[in-house]
Amino acid sequence: AALRSSNTKAYFCHELSQCLYDFVLQLLPTAEELDVKEDVRKLLEKLIQTLEPSSRLLSFGSTANGFSLRNSDMDLCCLIDAKERPNASDLVQLVGDLLKRETKFEVKPLPHARIPIVKLSLSATDGLPFGIACDIGFENRLALENTRLLYSYACIDPTRVRIMVLFLKVWSKRRKINSPYRGTLSSYGYVLLVIYFLVHVKNPPVLPNLQQIPPLQPITHEEMHIGEHNIWFFDDVETLRQRWRSQNHESVAELLIDFFKYYSRDFLYNTGVASIRAGLLKKESKGWLNEPDPRGGRYQDLAQERNRLCIEDPFENDYNVARCVTRDGLYLIRGEFMRASRILLHRPERAITSLAELCA
Ligand code: ATP
Ligand code: MG
Repeated sequence: AALRSSNTKAYFCHELSQCLYDFVLQLLPTAEELDVKEDVRKLLEKLIQTLEPSSRLLSFGSTANGFSLRNSDMDLCCLIDAKERPNASDLVQLVGDLLKRETKFEVKPLPHARIPIVKLSLSATDGLPFGIACDIGFENRLALENTRLLYSYACIDPTRVRIMVLFLKVWSKRRKINSPYRGTLSSYGYVLLVIYFLVHVKNPPVLPNLQQIPPLQPITHEEMHIGEHNIWFFDDVETLRQRWRSQNHESVAELLIDFFKYYSRDFLYNTGVASIRAGLLKKESKGWLNEPDPRGGRYQDLAQERNRLCIEDPFENDYNVARCVTRDGLYLIRGEFMRASRILLHRPERAITSLAELCA
């Protein structure tokens, strides 16, 4: 009781960790939802195989990376093993037409997007209270690999990593800063910020850097690369679980409070690049500084708009995952980090009050 009335940091964190755990637990997908999604995947795979027998349809993104919430959409990737196959745009048209004919989904082919996809949706019914939204892409092998990388990180310290990531996903959606189309950051971007924080900012680290642990047995250059991209990471999670003992024993709540503090005031937004592969890098050395574009005018503004927030993709190192974040978007995001930090430092009588306010 004495502890409680003074609401010390230790007591607050203890209570908040429990609240976070309970909060996230009720937002996880039900077994039924996962079954329905798996059935949908199999059905679509069968249909696509009528066009191209060697094709496989694999899940990536949240349905496969261990960070899925109730009613999250499905990301599917179609791999075709045949030597000769149509290009991605043509495949999008072909598969789009097929699925329009053969299914009840609302089908929208986007053959000319940066990554061509077929968008599918099914509206809600009794058995499916929130409907289904699904994107099918083609030959996006890097996305399958980065999904496996995130999954491996989730497995190393399942409780702390998963609760932090899942909470941030819900929080960023409720606070309306999870929308690349409107100038803020994708879920993938937030997950990378969390991993960066746990690998490179926390000292001692909560997670090892999987991309820097050498293979137990030598592997070939081909196995290590997709195109020019090095996709090596240590994915033997069983071995890691036995050998990796983090010296960091902070609770989820302590880590979350520190996460918000770090991204409110310590991360070097103007000059820094968050790289889970290599730690803090400089925009300048990656050529991501808002250098004047020799073409001037509009191009210069574009480059500047592109690299406000810099998060290096773990495998596609010349790709800024946060390139969609605009000046206004970054202002909103940082504002939200500060707001969260303020709410958590306040430590009201009951931790649940903070949680409710955070996501209000
Ligand atoms: P949600 O539940 O919100 O859909 P998610 O875990 O599926 O979350 P998304 O942001 O939808 O996360 O990303 C899904 C996958 O798409 C990622 O694992 C990644 O492979 C790819 N991806 C998404 N955004 C980007 C991006 N900006 N750059 C590169 N790849 C991305
Ligand atoms: Mg997704």
